[in-house]
Amino acid sequence: TNTKSIDVLIIGAGPSGCVAAAHLFNQGLTIKVIEKSKFPRFVIGESLLPRCMEHFEEVGLLDCLKAQEFEVKSGARFLKNGVVCDFDFSQKHSQGWDWTWQVPRADFDNALAEDLVKKGVNIAFEHEVVDVEFASDGKSLTTIKDNNGVISTITAKFIIDSSGYGRVLPRLLDLDAPSAIPKHSSIFTHVKEADRPDGIEGTLITFDVVTDDVWLWVIPFSNGVTSLGFVGPTEILESYHGTPSEKLKEMMKMSNHYHDRFDGIDYLFEPREIKNYSKAVKQLYGKGYALTGNSAEFLDPVFSSGVTFATESALLSAKLIAKELKGEKVNWEEEYSDYIKEGVGVFRTYVKEWYTGNLQKIFFHRPENPEIKKQICSVLAGYVWDKTNPFVKNHSRLVKTVATVIDMESKQKKSV
Ligand code: FAD
Repeated sequence: TNTKSIDVLIIGAGPSGCVAAAHLFNQGLTIKVIEKSKFPRFVIGESLLPRCMEHFEEVGLLDCLKAQEFEVKSGARFLKNGVVCDFDFSQKHSQGWDWTWQVPRADFDNALAEDLVKKGVNIAFEHEVVDVEFASDGKSLTTIKDNNGVISTITAKFIIDSSGYGRVLPRLLDLDAPSAIPKHSSIFTHVKEADRPDGIEGTLITFDVVTDDVWLWVIPFSNGVTSLGFVGPTEILESYHGTPSEKLKEMMKMSNHYHDRFDGIDYLFEPREIKNYSKAVKQLYGKGYALTGNSAEFLDPVFSSGVTFATESALLSAKLIAKELKGEKVNWEEEYSDYIKEGVGVFRTYVKEWYTGNLQKIFFHRPENPEIKKQICSVLAGYVWDKTNPFVKNHSRLVKTVATVIDMESKQKKSV
């Protein structure tokens, strides 16, 4: 009847969906993006990595972002017990971008989506994917509900599920898998300071490590707003009581560095909480579909890898779909799954070793080892596929080994 037929249906217009859509549109394929919300909409994930700039550039979405004049992020700062660990992306092992942005995601995602619409991409806002049925050849019939409850359907040769926290296909196809990361949660809001400090304090993202496993992010935006958020084990965050505002206010007392600066400042919205945010899936693709971004996997915010993983997986899956639709053979297991899992595996090690304390030992050990720092800096810039970097190639072994050496050294010092 009135079922439309297209090449690729994309679920979600976040960074993942927008990058996938841009590439497929540039290839001349017929596509449609279905987005549940009305933009601009809030989403967390405000600190980007240099690696994702390549993705925006490649699909022609960099200029619309540059025009927004977001706060430039040229590195990241970590604080613990008075020790400062500063990473500067221009001092990294790998080739590639040495800056990116700190962004209010409502504006950032809106700029991407608006640019696509301007170019002619069909995005249906306030339309929600409610069901998908796959035929044995991979063709799908997707059921969509608009905000008036009107139902429509679309058939597509491929679906890219970029639905982020919506996790449409993982839910519908029962693809959820337990995450390898311990259960952590987060609480966050935005503030506007009357008198924001100059220099690094007012511009650079800082991670204030208040205990071994609880930390606070402070992310200044160019519009004068600053994002504040705590991350930690779920049981620790749940030990705070009261309204979200009361809880966050109480937690801010843990931060020696930031407590006074943000004390008494109104939260721009009641702090939001995301509990047990780590997600994983049994498989990253299937006949007729690929999962990208947060719909596929989310580890932890500590290295700001979410958006970069979202755009990396989006661009790759879009390329492979375009290739397949041109009649070429694609080995999804090798070309998509194995590749994505490799990069995720590197980040997973860093996240795990952050919370075991091993990585923190390396970050805050003095004097610093400049060579090690450059190599770790590449990982923090998102260059997790660069095998010339020993801290990528041997990620798991090397982080543990260096931490053990630091332990041995400090034991020796104590016994002298
Ligand atoms: P999203 O940006 O979530 O976009 C998905 C879109 O799909 C949404 O617009 C949604 O409305 C739409 N959608 C959902 N369901 C449906 C449906 N049924 N039909 C149609 N549309 C639908 N990442 C970073 O890079 N840096 C950070 O600093 C960072 N900090 C974080 C802090 C916390 C506490 C957490 C939990 C995460 C953080 N992340 C961070 C991760 C980041 O939020 C995500 O990785 C990123 O937003 C993923 O982008 P995406 O495009 O996959 O999904």
